[in-house]
Amino acid sequence: MESGEKGDSPRNREPWFRGRTRTERILLVLALVLILLCAALICVVVYISVKLGSSDNFQACDKLECIRAAARVADGIDFSVDPCDNFYEYACGGWMKNHVIPSDRSFLASFSILRDTVQVKLKQVLEEDISEGEIEAIVKAKNLYGSCMNTTNLKAVGISVALPLLREIGGWPILGTNEGGNWREGDFSLTSLIVTINKYSNVPYIYPYVYLDSKDKKRRVLYLDNPGSILPERKHYDQPRDSPLMKAYVDLGVKVAIEFGADEEQARRDMEDILDLETNLVNITTPLEDRRDNEKLYNKFTVGEMKLNFTESKELDFTWRGYIQQLLQIDGVEFDLDENQTVIVVDIQYMKRLIPVLLQFPKRTITNYAVWRIMNNRIKDLPDRFRQYLGEYLKVLYGSSHIRSRWRKCVDVVVNYLGLPIGRLFVQRHFDEEAKAGISDMSDNILDSFRTILSELDWMDKDTREVAEEKALFIKRKIGYEDSILDDDLLNRRYENVTIHPVNYFENMLFLLKRTVIDDLLELRTNLYRMEWEVAPSTVNAYYSPPQNRIMFPAGILQPPYYHKDYPRSLNYGGIGTLIGHEITHGFDDRGRQYNKEGELHEWWSKRSVDKFKDLQTCFINQYGNFSSPEADGMKVNGIITLGENIADNGGVLQSYRAYRNFVSKRGSEENPLPGLNITHDQLFFINFAQIRCTIAEKKNFVNHLMTGPHSPSRFRVTGTLQNLPVFSEAFQCPKDSYMNPRHKCRLW
Ligand SMILES: [Zn+2]
Repeated sequence: MESGEKGDSPRNREPWFRGRTRTERILLVLALVLILLCAALICVVVYISVKLGSSDNFQACDKLECIRAAARVADGIDFSVDPCDNFYEYACGGWMKNHVIPSDRSFLASFSILRDTVQVKLKQVLEEDISEGEIEAIVKAKNLYGSCMNTTNLKAVGISVALPLLREIGGWPILGTNEGGNWREGDFSLTSLIVTINKYSNVPYIYPYVYLDSKDKKRRVLYLDNPGSILPERKHYDQPRDSPLMKAYVDLGVKVAIEFGADEEQARRDMEDILDLETNLVNITTPLEDRRDNEKLYNKFTVGEMKLNFTESKELDFTWRGYIQQLLQIDGVEFDLDENQTVIVVDIQYMKRLIPVLLQFPKRTITNYAVWRIMNNRIKDLPDRFRQYLGEYLKVLYGSSHIRSRWRKCVDVVVNYLGLPIGRLFVQRHFDEEAKAGISDMSDNILDSFRTILSELDWMDKDTREVAEEKALFIKRKIGYEDSILDDDLLNRRYENVTIHPVNYFENMLFLLKRTVIDDLLELRTNLYRMEWEVAPSTVNAYYSPPQNRIMFPAGILQPPYYHKDYPRSLNYGGIGTLIGHEITHGFDDRGRQYNKEGELHEWWSKRSVDKFKDLQTCFINQYGNFSSPEADGMKVNGIITLGENIADNGGVLQSYRAYRNFVSKRGSEENPLPGLNITHDQLFFINFAQIRCTIAEKKNFVNHLMTGPHSPSRFRVTGTLQNLPVFSEAFQCPKDSYMNPRHKCRLW
């Protein structure tokens, strides 16, 4: 039934393709080819995605912070330098060329630029009018700032504001019979002289302070230390009297005295005598190199035992018992003396020789110097011409006047004395709360890598290692700010004893100085209301506290270039991460290791491990001690006074790098690149480590820093640390024996 069947006619059964027009056929072939090409492309993309675990891997991070970071990193680098030749010059060369030292300071560093930015933000909040319902503590902060900025009043009151202070001390001999002078030798009492000035937080001859007892943290105790010197370093006092610095120092005192009416010639003779006395005192202080063994700085005596160990003098009217008693009797404290009260003498050699040295000088000079200690610190609070005198002296000392805009000085004053109220304003406006969790998470990871590193160390015996691990687990942390500052009542209560006048700045300063001392002494026997963590939240710095076994990162430093939540982690770990590791390692550096997990001075190391530690630390002393600073005519770094910081730098970078690699392993792939930069994330980690330290400074600043600073200059903090680190050389493929990859490497943690 073919015919009856429905079906295609023969024509209909013709091959389908041949039935198309030529154009149709060409188009069909093309379509087929395109479909195949697309399929192939999809296969490739799927393959790469599966292989790398992420489908956006080739896209650069396009968040605003990544773009900013890329620009900053690129601007900082000097691409003409080989990173293996000198990594500091490579990472900071561009930055150093792009910046100049402002005329009002002697150095500029990447962290000081962040500090400046924070100051601008603080200025803005402090200059806002006091609003209706503003809490008292914040009103006090704004009033303190306002009084400091009130230069009209400052000019109007002139030097008269300082006269009551001079009268209270008993007169400044250098002023002769002028107001503020009228000193009478017959009334001389060394005990009263020192205590009257100690009361204002200034420290002629003896520096008393109250702090946790290093061996019994349940209590606070009175410490007595040498007061340091006005010129920052003992070597300064070796210079001849006609050197520019000595002349500038004497001139400063003479100019101040003349402003108060002194006779110029007499003032000059007095200042020369002051300098002689101070030189003698400086020579009996224990040098910084010998102040690293904390056991030697902990010398406990009862008040009764002091006279048996330290010279007293009838001639000068000075007994140790009398001194301590008078100190505890100042207004607002008024404690009775307990013979069994303990005192810790920090610089024992100094305290033994203090009175014999003073006995070689006339009472006039002894008084002149004591008053000069407090007047020298108050110059900056007197009318602006006094600040100019100070500037002229500082220019000779540091190479620049250091006299910054008045508002910057006033912001600093508020941060120093009312840091919590101003900090509250700062964090409310400018702090990203997410940073707390971010930093906490990073600290966990870095502590984990510290503990892993501990388990790999072969120089430490098992027992000591276990205690070290426990100490690491006990490290507490403070991030951003103390929550109580957001509680109106608690913040007001913290400052209930502080009274601030809206206009009288000099009086405000004297009040605050006095209050600091009273509160300090009161804590010997009473519990004042204190917040658990009182570092100003706006501070651009990080800390480790040995007695608290605590690391601290205030809100001020949790910002670019150290940290941003949108940064690739390579930058965060290279930035704030290396600081977290640095602070953790301070608990285990040459000084921090002397404290146990509770923060008490107590030997928890086996003898063998201590010996090994000391062996290994010699490597660092030699490595850093051989660096000579091109910025200071080749002057060498002091490998001993910088030892603790160098150990912390070295430990910190390795811990943070390991934590970063763990993060990448968990993530399963490298992070997205920064836009426009052909730099790997491992390299970025090390570049940010260097760039947060870029510094330029006047030669004199370098010299002073090299003499006294606990940190090595930035260039060596960077090169010294990275020379010791094989993972750095791998990241930049530095050949063996290149400057950055020497064969001999130092390692502790
Ligand atoms: Zn440090």
